[in-house]
Amino acid sequence: MTTQPFLSVRDLRVRFRTEDGVVRAVDGLSFDLERGRTLGIVGESGSGKSVTNLTVLGLHDPRTTEVVGEITLDGQELTTAPESVLEKLRGNKMAMIFQDSLTALSPYYTVGRQIAEPFRKHTGASRREARSRAVEMLEKVGIPHARQRVDDYPHQFSGGMRQRAMIAMALVCDPELLIADEPTTALDVTVQAQILDLLKDLQQQTGSAIVLISHDLGVVANTADELLVMYAGRAVERGPVREVLRSPRHPYTWGLLGSMPRLTSSVTEPLTPIPGTPPSLLAPPPGCPFHPRCGYVTAVADDACRTARPELPAGRGAACHLTPEQRRTVLAEQIRPRPGGE
Ligand code: ADP
Ligand code: MG
Repeated sequence: MTTQPFLSVRDLRVRFRTEDGVVRAVDGLSFDLERGRTLGIVGESGSGKSVTNLTVLGLHDPRTTEVVGEITLDGQELTTAPESVLEKLRGNKMAMIFQDSLTALSPYYTVGRQIAEPFRKHTGASRREARSRAVEMLEKVGIPHARQRVDDYPHQFSGGMRQRAMIAMALVCDPELLIADEPTTALDVTVQAQILDLLKDLQQQTGSAIVLISHDLGVVANTADELLVMYAGRAVERGPVREVLRSPRHPYTWGLLGSMPRLTSSVTEPLTPIPGTPPSLLAPPPGCPFHPRCGYVTAVADDACRTARPELPAGRGAACHLTPEQRRTVLAEQIRPRPGGE
């Protein structure tokens, strides 16, 4: 028996060399994920969520990107694996659903062909077999009249149907790791919920590990088991989803919760956005990267927030200098009980 997690990311650093300097898009990120589990990664736009996951799939440009750290999938190290190995894994053992189905699906080929192609490539199936697999996948993701719709082009599908087709494409080889990068962002709330339910159902059937990325805590709240909150290329808080939602520990997570519509309440409350904007990753601020936007800097002794980088402990925890006592006080005062929530 192996004790190694199915997917393990250790101290991952991803830097882009650009004309303006080096962008530290991911700066020392670690997480684990087991089969059958869903990890939610949340954070504002630009926090490094997509770069992290594109790096897992090996989809970065090696000419301009420096990757340091370890990524292992089922015991296989990926950061040093040759492209030929990654190509065999992509679409087969690991697959990704992209945010924008309009740009991810080619307008020139039928939906069915785009689902069948990766299946043929990885299994060596005949055209006929691959086509019937495409129909089967379209049925699985809930496209009505799949036998006819398989010959449609993407523009003949609605937004929700295209997103389903992308899921069908990602799942056609039964991947063991599925990365869904903002899979529902472009969709209305009802379709969003349907797509998330669909991902959960499919996971129950296949036991795959899912990374669900979103800038919206509400999207992952009901779907993920574990949560990783990212800010400026780092993880600032992690833990079981329910624990993080019930007793968030990082001021950034408090901010995300404050700017999230309350899903469990029928009362519409005004949203409080986090003041300011995320830092430039060309020159991240010293100390805690969140300190320029944090309301608790003066509560911490020795100006530590401006000078010392807080580390994220292993397991449940937050990368923040506030003491547990200070946090309890803040939470008691600032976060009102959620009506109808836990
Ligand atoms: P998220 O998915 O959380 O919105 P990304 O992972 O896409 O954020 O981006 C993280 C940071 O890396 C951003 O500041 C983005 O501008 C930068 N970035 C992403 N790709 C590149 C690239 N190819 N070259 C330079 N900077 C990049
Ligand atoms: Mg992104």
